[in-house]
Amino acid sequence: MSIIYVVGLGPGNPGDMTPRAGDAIKNADVVIGYNTYIELIRQYFPQKEFIPSGMTREVERCELARKKALEGKNVALVSSGDSGIYGMAGIMLEVVNKSSSDITVEVVPGITAASAAASVLGAPIMHDFAVISLSDLMTPLDLIYKRVECAAEGDFVICLYNPKSKNRSDYINKAADIILKHRNKTTPVGIVRNAAREDQEYFITTIEEMLNYQIDMFTVVIIGNSNTYVENGKMITPRGYKID
Ligand code: SAH
Repeated sequence: MSIIYVVGLGPGNPGDMTPRAGDAIKNADVVIGYNTYIELIRQYFPQKEFIPSGMTREVERCELARKKALEGKNVALVSSGDSGIYGMAGIMLEVVNKSSSDITVEVVPGITAASAAASVLGAPIMHDFAVISLSDLMTPLDLIYKRVECAAEGDFVICLYNPKSKNRSDYINKAADIILKHRNKTTPVGIVRNAAREDQEYFITTIEEMLNYQIDMFTVVIIGNSNTYVENGKMITPRGYKID
């Protein structure tokens, strides 16, 4: 029986890809994924058949993976970061379940953007944190804001994915306003763009200043909890250890 591996590639450099993810790609006859991710890995697997596809074609990509698997091929369907966090794992399982196909789906995890970004900033997600996507392509906007509000009220460190795109440039402003109802305006904020990629850049700032920095779809924004502080250029959320 053919296998579809739904592979998390990590944030974008080979060192941060797991050996298991590499093995899944090596075992696959065909590798399917969004153009940008295919371009990140193509050079490391020169013998493979790659099928790149455009953005928002997730269902099509899964249908194609299913078709190839039914033809007897092993498929690697790739996502950036972790395939199970805003990645392709859920939709692939749903497509296979819906068609009652006799195909094995194996989810191969990866380092998610929040982990990669946190390591650049220091240790900001050492305590309870919430990951929230500000994309309302598939989630109603009022539910997104409600989750931001609840996470802020619960004093979670908040990691914002998909923080800003051309069509929704003000959601991040609204999110900042909501968080400010529950948190001090000098709370540390880390902004990491292209974490673990060649053009990585990052800034450590505060909630009140964060909107002055470039934030886009290649960025993760990490907003500290009420105990997060910055020292020696590193953002730290303490767990409460006593250090003499
Ligand atoms: N499955 C991915 C997330 C996909 S959602 C993961 O687990 O990381 C896409 C969002 O993830 C982007 O808009 C951005 O907010 C974030 N992201 C993904 N890779 C990133 C990187 N290398 N640096 C910064 N943010 C990244």
